[in-house]
Amino acid sequence: MRIVVPAERAEGEHRVAVVPQVLGKFTQLGFEVAVESGAGRHAFADDEAYRLAGAQIIPSGELSAALHGAAVVATVRPLAPELAAGLGKGTVAVSFLSPSTDSATIAAVAKAGATALSFDLLPRISRAQSMDALTSQALVTGYRASLVAADRLPTFFPLFMTAAGTIQPAKVLVLGAGVAGLQAIATAKRLGAKVSAYDVRPASADEVRSMGATFITLDLEALEGSGGYAREMTEDRAARQRELLAPHIAAADAVITTAAVPGRRAPLLVTRAMVEGMRPGSVVVDLASETGGNVEGSQPGDEVWIGQVLVWGGKDVASQMPVHASQLYAMNVQALLGLTVRDGAVVVDMADEVLEGCAVVLNGEIRSEAARTALGVLPGKES
Ligand code: NAD
Repeated sequence: MRIVVPAERAEGEHRVAVVPQVLGKFTQLGFEVAVESGAGRHAFADDEAYRLAGAQIIPSGELSAALHGAAVVATVRPLAPELAAGLGKGTVAVSFLSPSTDSATIAAVAKAGATALSFDLLPRISRAQSMDALTSQALVTGYRASLVAADRLPTFFPLFMTAAGTIQPAKVLVLGAGVAGLQAIATAKRLGAKVSAYDVRPASADEVRSMGATFITLDLEALEGSGGYAREMTEDRAARQRELLAPHIAAADAVITTAAVPGRRAPLLVTRAMVEGMRPGSVVVDLASETGGNVEGSQPGDEVWIGQVLVWGGKDVASQMPVHASQLYAMNVQALLGLTVRDGAVVVDMADEVLEGCAVVLNGEIRSEAARTALGVLPGKES
């Protein structure tokens, strides 16, 4: 059983699917690991480190042949369609893969008769927690968001009692208290800020309070959806939410937004006028910038001034901490593959709820309804 780890090809992607520190865990499962030369360079893992950990190094010119013969191909981003087209029959490709937007890759995997498992679709059940790459990467982005806010703010985060007098702590407001939001709260708390948070899911209130932050309750209906995720809101409710949040935003020194609704554009939580209502020197960190933005005017991968407020738009945020982001991701991949190894072979068994949930394509058959719809294919007609 050979697992092949190609270098990531997307610009700005600095993670790698398997790191040398975690390689031994793959070997224990019975895998032989082969890594494309240079795959770990952005995560500070050179070919020699992989070699020492027991991996083979594949020169880039030989990648296509290696992909064809692999039992598993592990990447962070979806395989480029031209690489996916070269997968062997039955090869299992593991990565993030959106059934509704990564249609070209999905079509190529299906045509090759291969299998695609996506972390985007991993069921959020306790047994699957060790495999939850959405969670591990959200932890990285939430941590990073608070560091960025602390770095860009022209004031301290913590309270300082000095001989000259007292400096009050920064007020940090976190909007969206899922995995990233909770980690942003924890990090801002550790740095000494006074933290409050809001989320549409009432279940998040206890989690926020358990971190020592204040939960903001608004006079609005809750939006708890299925699988622990939020539901999309109507425009009326969104407008009312913004109106009720405005004074909290105006009172904050730093606002960190992390709100998302799976499969949808990020909800607009903060308008330009609300940003303009903040004190000069305040900072807004929008982690949802790449998916439409929680903050009007935020630019993914850029920081812009709206009046005298700095708005930082997140892009490839997990890649800004590539070492630990990759290490956590590699552990997620290893845990997921642990479900597939049977008697020295990789078997993707649809009787396993976790694998069934992740399988976008199984041996050439497109199983995800969303992927079928995006591709406009009829059942059984994909090849
Ligand atoms: P996410 O990235 O989909 O969204 C981030 C947060 O934004 C969510 O908390 C969501 O409620 C919130 N949000 C959406 N619209 C909003 C709005 N208009 N205003 C304010 N907030 C808004 O969420 P996530 O981090 O992936 O977590 C979603 C849930 O899944 C959480 O309850 C989390 O604890 C749970 N979870 C469970 C498991 C597991 O059991 N294995 C693993 C990970 C997460």
